[in-house]
Amino acid sequence: MSPPSEGFAARLVRWQRSHGRNDLPWQQGRDPYRVWLSEIMLQQTQVATVRAYFERFVQALPTVQALAQASAEQVMGLWSGLGYYSRARNLHACAQRIVAEFGGVFPPQASVLATLPGIGRSTASAITSVCFGERVPILDANARRVVARVHAYGQDLARPAHERALWELAEHLLPAPGPGAAALMPAYTQAMMDLGALLCTPRQPGCAQCPVQGLCQAAHQGQAESYPVRSRKLVRRSEDWHLLLLHTPDGAVWLQRRPARGIWAGLLCPPLWPSADALEQAVRSALGAGAALRHAPMVKHVLTHRDLHLHPVWAVVERGALDPAHASAGADLAQVPGAWFGADQWPQQGLPAPVRRLLQGLPPSA
Ligand code: SF4
Repeated sequence: MSPPSEGFAARLVRWQRSHGRNDLPWQQGRDPYRVWLSEIMLQQTQVATVRAYFERFVQALPTVQALAQASAEQVMGLWSGLGYYSRARNLHACAQRIVAEFGGVFPPQASVLATLPGIGRSTASAITSVCFGERVPILDANARRVVARVHAYGQDLARPAHERALWELAEHLLPAPGPGAAALMPAYTQAMMDLGALLCTPRQPGCAQCPVQGLCQAAHQGQAESYPVRSRKLVRRSEDWHLLLLHTPDGAVWLQRRPARGIWAGLLCPPLWPSADALEQAVRSALGAGAALRHAPMVKHVLTHRDLHLHPVWAVVERGALDPAHASAGADLAQVPGAWFGADQWPQQGLPAPVRRLLQGLPPSA
């Protein structure tokens, strides 16, 4: 079978216009701010979930200037529930760089955009190809699958040299260079994403309906699911986190800022310990031996590399029962300073989604 170059882009673009996704909220007007925001949100999250978050985010912060000027708390609050919070921190930092270094205007070259926080090569290419017609390929998870299959590229993509080779193959599939390329690039980039999401799926791809089936070497071999090849397997681990949900009778909760790195970095969270014994010992130290604890059923929270087994423990106290100076002294209460957040305050904060759900179930005694 000859190399699949001629006609690939044209077929794909025609298919995208009739069968692709053309009504997503970030596609209107090809505004680089909206496209960038959607790309970052979509990195680890499904389109259906992103829609609602995206609308809320752009309503609150409609421009890159507004995002640059927003407080970290507001950005984290708008992101709260989407997970992978380093994305939100990078988004904020990136907006500030775009305003400070580029006058609030997105640079139209992917190679420049890719130097900014949180923007990798594929994200940069998605933004500049869709918004400015730059002739550069994307290689997100969907496009990677399409490119590897079309070329039947069987090398292990865990190795950087093979990943680089796949980028070259992706370039080989782009619309031909020339005056017409810029006009085709927005639909072409969207088509690569749509084909991977709608037909060229990881399992049971819809090759019979695929517009490039006649050019696809993996389909020709009848081996589509064998590509792409990636040897490195994720090793899943599980951890037990025992959370102290300390609240007052009027619904205030005690929260602490998580460290800047790691799971739930920078978010507010109840104090937590790796064992029930450690939690109970810390509570006795901070509140005395008579503190009544109520254990709630374990909640499993699934992250990319590990499962968190969250063990909520409720305790109701008066605000004065917990001396913030004592709590911040380092010996107890998970060794981080904390503060009370009133019933009208904590829902506005950036909280991990499972913590928010737990707090929404604050016992009726509160
Ligand atoms: Fe993917 Fe099948 Fe289309 Fe090839 S023919 S690109 S394997 S859906």
